[in-house]
Amino acid sequence: MRIFDYVIVGGGSAGCVLAGRLSEDPDVSVCLLEAGGAGRNWLVRVPFGLVLTVPAPFINWGFKTVPQTQLNRRRLYQPRGRVLGGSSALNAMIYTRGHPSDYDRWAAVGNPGWSWREVLPYFKSGENNLNFHDDYHGVDGPQPVSDAFTGNPMHAVFLEAAQQACYPVSCDFNGTQQEGVGVYQVTQRDGERWSASRAYLEPNLCRPNLTVLTGARVQRVLFEGRQASGVQYRRGGHTENMRARREVILSAGTFQSPQLLMLSGIGDGQALQNLGIEVLRHLPGVGANLQDHLDYTLIHRARNLDLIGASPRGIRRFMRELGRYRCERRGMLCTNVAEAGGFLKTDTSLPRPDLQLHFCVAIVHNHGRTLQHLWHGYSLHVCVLRPASRGRVSLARSDPGKAPLIDPAYLSDPRDLELLVRGFKLARRILEAPAFTPYRGRELFSAGVVSDADICALIRARAETIYHPVGTCRMGRGDFAVVDASLKVHGVQGLRVVDASVMPTLIGGNTNAPTMMIAEKAADMIRDQSGAGAST
Ligand SMILES: Cc1cc2nc3c(=O)[nH]c(=O)nc-3n(C[C@H](O)[C@H](O)[C@H](O)COP(=O)(O)OP(=O)(O)OC[C@H]3O[C@@H](n4cnc5c(N)ncnc54)[C@H](O)[C@@H]3O)c2cc1C
Repeated sequence: MRIFDYVIVGGGSAGCVLAGRLSEDPDVSVCLLEAGGAGRNWLVRVPFGLVLTVPAPFINWGFKTVPQTQLNRRRLYQPRGRVLGGSSALNAMIYTRGHPSDYDRWAAVGNPGWSWREVLPYFKSGENNLNFHDDYHGVDGPQPVSDAFTGNPMHAVFLEAAQQACYPVSCDFNGTQQEGVGVYQVTQRDGERWSASRAYLEPNLCRPNLTVLTGARVQRVLFEGRQASGVQYRRGGHTENMRARREVILSAGTFQSPQLLMLSGIGDGQALQNLGIEVLRHLPGVGANLQDHLDYTLIHRARNLDLIGASPRGIRRFMRELGRYRCERRGMLCTNVAEAGGFLKTDTSLPRPDLQLHFCVAIVHNHGRTLQHLWHGYSLHVCVLRPASRGRVSLARSDPGKAPLIDPAYLSDPRDLELLVRGFKLARRILEAPAFTPYRGRELFSAGVVSDADICALIRARAETIYHPVGTCRMGRGDFAVVDASLKVHGVQGLRVVDASVMPTLIGGNTNAPTMMIAEKAADMIRDQSGAGAST
C-alpha cells in the first residue's frame, strides 16, 4: 500500500492550492488524488473554451439538482470541473472576493481567525495581480489576476448605461469600494486561463515529495477507530487503498466532500443507517446548509459583431480573431463571456450591495446548451448575493459511483424571490438606458413582462444557478457544524475538509478566490499544527 503524509482528495481550486503549498516542505510527502484527467489542452487554456466545457461533459461532472419545487419542478443543471484545476478549469475566471463584512460574519458566528482582517493576508499571498499594486492586492503569489484581454467596446456601453441609471462605478471590486459597476479582473495571464492547477500544481510537478494521481476516484475515507488512516479509491478498473500518515484532506467540492463523508459513515445517523452505511459519527450537519446564487438573465438580440454570435459575418470575424489570438493572445478568444458586471444595492440605505450583475457579451441562455446562443446579443445576469434559502446534499444510494442528490431548495425562503424581482427591474433599467439604444434588439423571453406576478412567473420558469454552491460542510460550532475553525471534522481525528463546502454563509461575490483563500489559510494551519486548535 502506498503511504504519504498528506492525502488530498480532489484536485480542484482548493486541492491544487493545498498540494502546492504543503509540498513546499521537502520533509513531507503529499499525494493528490483527482477523479478527472490532467486537462492540459486548449479547451482549458484558451478562455473561449468555456463555451464548450460548461455545457458539455468533457471535463465536467454535469450534475443536476432534484426537481425544484419553487421553480416549476425543473431540475437545474450544475456544472462542476472534473479535471486538475476542478471548477477553476472551466469557470468564468472572474476574480472577486466578496464584501469584508462576509468574513467578519464568519468570525462572529464562532470561527476565530476568519475575520476580514485575518483572511486578507491569505488572499494576498495567493495573488499575483498584474495591474493593482496596493494594500488590497498581492503581487508575488502563484495565481495571476489581470484586467481583461478582450478590450471589448461593449464594456464602455454597459458602464455608461449603468451610470445613466444612476449607479456608481467601481474601479476595483476588491479594493476600497465594492459597490458599483465595472469590468471584472480575471484569472488569466497573457490571454490564457490560469486555473488553480496551472498556478499551484504544474510548476511544482517536479518536486519528489509531490505525487499527483489523475483518474483516481476516491470512494471513502478509511478509519482505525476514529482516526482517519487513508482512503479507498478506484483507478484503472482496480480498487486500491492509500495510507495517510498525518492527515486525509477532503477537497472534493461542495457536492462531493459531504458525499464522501457520508459514504465514510459521517453524517446524519438515521439517514446513513437507512442506506445500510455503518455510522462512525452522527453529524447531522453533513450535506445541510447548501446555499447558491440563483440568477435571472435578461437577454437582448443585437447585430453588433463585438458580441459573440455565429452569423456568417460573426464567423468571419471569429476567424480573424483566431489569427489575432495566435499572434497576440488578445481579443475575442480571451473572453470569459461575463466580462463586466457589478455589485449594487436595491436600497441606498443598505450597508452593502445585495445584488450582483454579470454583463455577458453573448446570448447566455440555459448555460449555452441551446441554439439561441448562436445569435448575436448581450445578456445581463442578476443574482441575490446572500440568499436566505437553504438546501441539502444527500446520498441517493451507498454506491460511491452514483451522483449525490442535490437539493438547493432555491427560493424556499420567499425573501429571495422578492429580492430577485427587484433585481430584475434594476437590471432592466440599465438595459433600457440610452447608451444601449444603438445596439438594442428584441428582448428575449421577457418582452412585455412588467407586473410583479409576471416577473415572478418568469423567474420560476427560467432562473438558473450562477455556479456558486457552498456550505455543505459548514465551519463552526454547534450541532450542525461539520468542521471547526481549523477545518478539522468534528468528532474524528486526522480528517479535514478544505474547499467551498466549509463556508458557513455564502459570500457576496464569486467563490473561486475565497475558496483558494480558504486553502491558503488551511495550508498555513496544517503546517503550524500548534496554532490550529484542537478538534472538538
Ligand atoms: C461554470 C462555472 C463558472 C464559474 N465561474 C466563476 C467565476 O467566474 N469566478 C469565481 O470566483 N467562481 C466561479 N465559479 C465557482 C468556482 O469555480 C468554485 O466555487 C470553485 O472552483 C470551487 O472550488 P472547490 O475546490 O471547492 O471545488 P472544485 O474546484 O469543483 O474541485 C473539486 C475537485 O474534486 C474532484 N473530485 C470530486 N469528487 C472526487 C472523488 N471522489 N475522488 C477524486 N476527486 C474528486 C473533482 O473532479 C474536482 O476536480 C464557477 C463555477 C462553475 C462551475
